[in-house]
Amino acid sequence: MKTYLVTGAAGFIGANFIKYMLAEHQDIKIVVLDLLTYAGNLGTIAGDIDGERCEFVKGDICDRTLADELFAKYNFDYVVNFAAESHVDRSIENPQLFLVTNILGTQNLLDAARRAWVTGKDEAGYPLWREGVRFHQVSTDEVYGSLGAEGYFHETTPLDPRSPYSASKTSADLFVKAYFDTYKMPVSITRCSNNYGPYHFPEKLIPLIIKNILEGKSLPVYGDGKNVRDWLYVEDHCKAIDAVIHRGRVGEVYNVGGHNEKQNIEIVKLTISTIHRLMTEQPEYRQVLKKKEIGLDGEIAVDWINESLITFVKDRLGHDMRYAIDPTKISEELGWTPETTFEVGIVKTIRWYLENQQWVEDITGGDYMKYYDRMYSGR
Ligand code: NAD
Repeated sequence: MKTYLVTGAAGFIGANFIKYMLAEHQDIKIVVLDLLTYAGNLGTIAGDIDGERCEFVKGDICDRTLADELFAKYNFDYVVNFAAESHVDRSIENPQLFLVTNILGTQNLLDAARRAWVTGKDEAGYPLWREGVRFHQVSTDEVYGSLGAEGYFHETTPLDPRSPYSASKTSADLFVKAYFDTYKMPVSITRCSNNYGPYHFPEKLIPLIIKNILEGKSLPVYGDGKNVRDWLYVEDHCKAIDAVIHRGRVGEVYNVGGHNEKQNIEIVKLTISTIHRLMTEQPEYRQVLKKKEIGLDGEIAVDWINESLITFVKDRLGHDMRYAIDPTKISEELGWTPETTFEVGIVKTIRWYLENQQWVEDITGGDYMKYYDRMYSGR
């Protein structure tokens, strides 16, 4: 029985990860550590927390005493660190919070793992590590900065973060690397492209567009909408992390991406047309529309779901133009490739949101609406 500390698993990717791991591996125990910030929702993982294979602890990854207590109590074999402030726009508003959570929080976990996992010293003075342990850092392709029209991010691409968010994630990665170089700590890092799928907080592009369509609101798109992101279905990301923590080489970085580059405007148009199509084919989905317009036959009409809802808004400061990942290393070394095509993944995602509106209502409380109004009002 292997024991995992998974931080930030009440958020989007971490929640998908623990669901995937609990289904995939019978002989594991997961302890979730999450502060339940605005982005965390215990309801997302309530069905997974059974007190036996999965336990939940509310707390801060920056809390040294708590981290030591958890390592002493559970004797973790793996740490998988998802916990982070993750939204670029919020990092532009409040950079310091990103520094504290993303850098100091990661370093605090590294130190707690070091205190718990070191068993002695070798002749040269390097720590000796308990057999089979691993600290895995979940990172992002944003650490590489922005690409022009050509080329891809490789693991050797120079780090060039450009937002407070990506600067904090880059610093955390460098601390993880430093613990490998200085103490020979068994670490690994994955740098992934944009994820999409179920349980994504509706401030990020795809769930925001879905939410606004259902509410009959305009669809804000930054600048001219031509910024390019590489999109990966979240379950494929979870599979990549599973492969790296168990079979990836220690001290290594693995890029994870979908080879699926799309302009933001393409994503928005595709989301509009898919919702329109699903609601036309399956009229029962129209019940979740908050904006209800009745057609001549007494049915709720959906033809107002069209591209005229798009509103171009002032561009994000320092908005990176293009991200594109080269995942050759993880494919060749570990046999990982993305399994869900974008065409399939986007329909699965939209169906999930149409069928789980209660989750959206639960997670978007008053604080989020205040933030949304501040960001987009008058635009
Ligand atoms: P998210 O914002 O949905 O979830 C973050 C979680 O961390 C939340 O549950 C929150 O409550 C928790 N958290 C925040 N501060 C904490 C603290 N101090 N202590 C404990 N818990 C805390 O984020 P996400 O989109 O699921 O991203 C997870 C990780 O993956 C992040 O590290 C992010 O940088 C990385 N990543 C995300 C993407 C993406 O497309 N979303 C892509 C690549 C990498």
